[in-house]
Amino acid sequence: MKKGTLNPNIKLKLSLPPPDEVYFAKFLTQSGTFMDGDLLVNRDGVRVVSQSESEALNLADIDTIKVIGKGSSGIVQLVQHKWTGQFFALKVIQMTIEENARKAIAKELIINQSAQCPNVVMCYQSFYDNGAISIILEYMDGGSLSDLLKKVKTIPEPYLAAICKQVLKGLLYLHHEKHIIHRDLKPSNLLINHRGEVKITDFGVSAILASTSGQANTFVGTYNYMSPERISGRQYGSKSDIWSLGLVLLEFATGQFPYSPLEQDVGWASVYELMEAVVDQPQPCASSDQFSPEFCSFVSSCVQKDPNDRLSANELMTHPFMNMYDDLHVDLSAYFKNAGSPLATLNL
Ligand code: ADP
Repeated sequence: MKKGTLNPNIKLKLSLPPPDEVYFAKFLTQSGTFMDGDLLVNRDGVRVVSQSESEALNLADIDTIKVIGKGSSGIVQLVQHKWTGQFFALKVIQMTIEENARKAIAKELIINQSAQCPNVVMCYQSFYDNGAISIILEYMDGGSLSDLLKKVKTIPEPYLAAICKQVLKGLLYLHHEKHIIHRDLKPSNLLINHRGEVKITDFGVSAILASTSGQANTFVGTYNYMSPERISGRQYGSKSDIWSLGLVLLEFATGQFPYSPLEQDVGWASVYELMEAVVDQPQPCASSDQFSPEFCSFVSSCVQKDPNDRLSANELMTHPFMNMYDDLHVDLSAYFKNAGSPLATLNL
């Protein structure tokens, strides 16, 4: 962007040092600077800055508030920028890696940072230091849809359609614009906020973990939502995420993961029993006694064992389920708030 022209998506950029170009670069990588856009504000006024000047959001500039989540790959903390008061989520993944793997990770993290879509969690900055990857993410004050489901038990169809539309917009962006496969779409990777927004997070992270030597065989995430072609070790593409989306929707609608173990009271004998069920059993579907024909058809357009039989994110956007409840104008913000936001920013 040329200096002097204002970007319509402009955000404020706060900086403590005077706007001296020489000092500026130095200060950016040290302390007191917040990178988030094209406008620089300091005691000498406001000016437009170029993307190349936008450097780091530094770990030294943030205070830890509390741990807000523990995932399979590490912990997530609520942090606050010292100078602007803005909240972020800091995800720390512990891993010991070699030089080559570090390069691959750096590449993946840069892709993460370049993703900009209202339905994808913003990744502001990432670092590798001392055996840990730290990723500074947009803070989503409603937590995840997995947290929400524990409270509401099931999500009624009109809300589900509104949630699904936002997830699909995120997937559409990742698949068709960025050509990224998420690989680990699941309820805990769908985050919500008080504005009623739903955003996909953690794309790229599973790719990093999978591609890192030494970690490749120690996948500690969940296989639950993994497509049959991935489980069988066949080639897979973006339709693999569509399978996961279908299972996630079924779980939200019924309150239960769609596959159940042979001995229900004992649980899954091993992860292999679950994987076998996904590969060998017929695909699950939504019951037409309980759900609308549109919802049943939507789920069945996602949950097909042959990826060629699944619709793409683009095709699903025009599925009748997407618009059937539009007249109700459902208020997701109120729905999330009534369910009790687990991480209200104001009640720290
Ligand atoms: P997993 O390994 O299960 O994918 P994560 O490590 O990504 O889980 O996150 C664990 C939990 O931390 C999430 O379920 C969510 O409650 C919380 N969390 C993760 N990222 C954010 C964020 N950006 N904003 C708010 N909460 C988050």
